[in-house]
Amino acid sequence: MIIIKNVRVINFNPPEVSEPVDVVIDKNLILDIGRYISGNYSAEDIIDGQGKYISPGLVCAHNHFYSALSRGIIANIPPSSNFQEILKNLWWRLDRALDEESLYYSGIVGALEAIKTGTTSVIDHSASPNYIKGSLTALKNCFEKVGLRGILCYEVTDRNGDEGMIAGIDESKAFAELVGKDRIEKNNTRLVEAAIGAHASFTISDETLTRLAAIVKESGKGIHIHVAEDLSDEVISYNNYELSVIERLEKAGALNDKSILAHGVHLSDKEIDIINSFDSFLVHNPRSNMNNSIGFMKKLSVVKNVALGTDGIGSNMFEEMKIGYFKNQDAGNSLYPADYLQFLFNGNKILSRYFNQSFGKIETGKVADMVMYDYQSPTPLNEKNLAGHFIFGFSSRDVETVIVNGKIVYRDRTFTFDVKPIYESAQAAAQKLWTKINSI
Ligand SMILES: [Zn+2]
Repeated sequence: MIIIKNVRVINFNPPEVSEPVDVVIDKNLILDIGRYISGNYSAEDIIDGQGKYISPGLVCAHNHFYSALSRGIIANIPPSSNFQEILKNLWWRLDRALDEESLYYSGIVGALEAIKTGTTSVIDHSASPNYIKGSLTALKNCFEKVGLRGILCYEVTDRNGDEGMIAGIDESKAFAELVGKDRIEKNNTRLVEAAIGAHASFTISDETLTRLAAIVKESGKGIHIHVAEDLSDEVISYNNYELSVIERLEKAGALNDKSILAHGVHLSDKEIDIINSFDSFLVHNPRSNMNNSIGFMKKLSVVKNVALGTDGIGSNMFEEMKIGYFKNQDAGNSLYPADYLQFLFNGNKILSRYFNQSFGKIETGKVADMVMYDYQSPTPLNEKNLAGHFIFGFSSRDVETVIVNGKIVYRDRTFTFDVKPIYESAQAAAQKLWTKINSI
């Protein structure tokens, strides 16, 4: 049992900021919340909150840990003038260069960086065409070592031939079975769930899509796929299948209320209606969209479930939320800070559906994924202006202590194990990876 004494609870939906209370955590759940209740319990660990703030954990709903060692990459990469060239010149060379060692260090560094910024869950989409079998288990080990929660998948694609496609399908099935066993054996102590990954409509044949839809049905999971990220995805879909990207997915029977659809910058109104009718999630990745010059998603206000992701640019949800909001302002769009707070909350809705437990609120009975901040506010902070404080005030520098599934994984800005040797090994692995990319 853990007790956090004298802490102000923040909730996102509906926005709430409490007076100082005590929060009691037992196993992986919040057992009790109230003023001066700590004396009623005997805890192994007591944290003095000193009137600081605590919020539900932040969720990065679309990420690619496999790209973590690309930061500052020095390699022979020709300039790219469009999205398809960016994929071919950089990402589809980087993923082919990955092996067991480089994927491990990508995963472990990705997980550490997430926790440091208050991100307690990452929904990852992985690609390593020359190391597919066992790659999701290797990533799962990274999440578990650091104590990060995740929903993992391998991105199935036809771009590496039949052999690569089948290996991706096999890994997806095997991993869904593995987490199924975990659910039975470890019940609520497990940290990792599975989605069914697909790269994007434009690299998937109808035959492959049919196979993916069958695994979605058999496993009871959702598909995690890039949709209408660049206009070319829609153009290729219309040209080859006379259907939009979302209509293709619907026709194949691949959509449900666990679908995680990334980007959607070029979705039509009709496609958004379909997504809403399945209660699926659209993950907005504003920094990546800007970085790849693929356009601005203007229709977020009519999408039922919008969550936020980083698409591989770290896992800092404060940066993503703030920059997304400023882009919205710059583009003359009509969303408010409260909308971005709701998007942040919605990542937790995805967790609730996959883990079959209740996430996203500091409340008795909810899963204890939470972040404590040393945020010194120069102005009053309450439920009316919480969203404004999240855009213009709170940042990852305020993250002090992080709890995932009822365990303290980061305390007073320190991990429970020495991370320096991990970063040293990651640098060596990154150098090897960059050298290898030059030969691909
Ligand atoms: Zn992505």
